[in-house]
Amino acid sequence: MAGMADNPLRRLPPMNAVLAAMNGIDAPHDALAAAARTELDRLRSRLAAGEVCEVSAESVAFAASVRLQADARPILRSVINATGVVLHTNLGRAPLATVAANAVRSVATNYLNLELDLATGRRSSRVDAVRRLLCELTGAEWATCVNNCAAATVLVLRALASGREVVVSRGELVEIGGGFRIPEIMAVSGATLHEVGTTNITRIADYERAVTSATALLMRVHRSNFRTVGFTKSASLDELVALGHARGVSVVDDVGSGALVDFARFGLPDEPLAADSVRAGADVVLFSGDKLLGGPQAGIIVGRRDLVERIERDPLMRAFRLDKMTLAALEGTLRLYRDERALTEVPVLRMLGTPLDELRRRAEELAQRLSSQDGITATARDDVAFVGGGSLPAQMLPAAVVAVSAEGLSDEELAARLRAGDPPVMARLHDGQVRFDVRTVFPEQDGALLAAVVAARRDRAAYLSSDKAL
Ligand SMILES: *Cc1c(COP(=O)(O)O)cnc(C)c1O
Repeated sequence: MAGMADNPLRRLPPMNAVLAAMNGIDAPHDALAAAARTELDRLRSRLAAGEVCEVSAESVAFAASVRLQADARPILRSVINATGVVLHTNLGRAPLATVAANAVRSVATNYLNLELDLATGRRSSRVDAVRRLLCELTGAEWATCVNNCAAATVLVLRALASGREVVVSRGELVEIGGGFRIPEIMAVSGATLHEVGTTNITRIADYERAVTSATALLMRVHRSNFRTVGFTKSASLDELVALGHARGVSVVDDVGSGALVDFARFGLPDEPLAADSVRAGADVVLFSGDKLLGGPQAGIIVGRRDLVERIERDPLMRAFRLDKMTLAALEGTLRLYRDERALTEVPVLRMLGTPLDELRRRAEELAQRLSSQDGITATARDDVAFVGGGSLPAQMLPAAVVAVSAEGLSDEELAARLRAGDPPVMARLHDGQVRFDVRTVFPEQDGALLAAVVAARRDRAAYLSSDKAL
């Protein structure tokens, strides 16, 4: 039948022709064959779907070799963050300071005194490495830490309120993200939630009426990732502390982001300082290590010694404990704060502190260098960005961006190719343009960013592997 002759699947090159075309690629025969087979299968389904595609042995071999290269790379790789979102959860939140990363490296490839007091030769607690620093930096009596602030919340509720009631404002029954919701966490920890007030208005009198002999804690949860505006009122921490102490009930303050320096200096006045909560008399204060603190993922618990020690005795503490690398990174980061080097050496603080003039100068220079490339249009302009990572939701940061387009590529295609490149580049898409926000691009990455755009425009390899990335 005439139809058979036209069957496009018949045009697929045979396996041995593809393998012959892959001659010279340094990989075991099985890996070559597997990559070729995957590529042939992919082509077969595209042809079956009626797509028009190139089917020479050479083109299949090329695609298979691109696939092999991609497979040879680790899945987790560093990327250039040109989104301007300083704390991007999908991009790992805070990048570590060099000092902190070096500390990780040194303990990762060696044995270390993780739970050993070198002075006495006796066993010690792994938290000792950071406890004093945390107390010094927050003014708290005692401190401990776990894997993240979500774990810290579960642990604190379980250790201090299991089988009893925790009073929380209805305006603070939040979802932090990733399915972490205060009412559900409360249930998991065995504490009973006692909601008070309304979504927009909760007064101290609401808490007063709720306190009974069954009450274990008054809890405040920072509205990290949203704001209520308009007709609103909430009790102050001072009021909660006064009430708690008058009635013999402890006050827990989940501040979320864990600012150890005043962010007003960056034009971001709304972020609570952990030290302020301690000073106001909160009995237990919780915050993250990898949000505005700019360290590794961790949940930090500071406060009254008897309470923090009770938390540390909970069996879940063992399940939530930090590993040696995180502890080394946390100690390294906290030392930078103590030595007053954080503003210049903790990347999150350095990025937030970069003056707009300097960002504009870099955006303009990048735009100029990009524009001189074939087929690329680039202009520098002002923009705005968010801090991200569930922090400061109402605060816009002034930003300087490079708006880029590449001849023959849509914005989405260019973005996909940039994601598939090496190193991958994450950008913002806006008004049909790809935008690079230079705040989150390390100055030493400017050259790599330029090279990535040039490669994305002309590199067929980047294009082919972008199929996979999409
Ligand atoms: C982010 C956040 C958490 C969760 O912290 P992780 O370290 O991400 O687990 C808990 N509470 C508040 C108020 C937060 O903002």
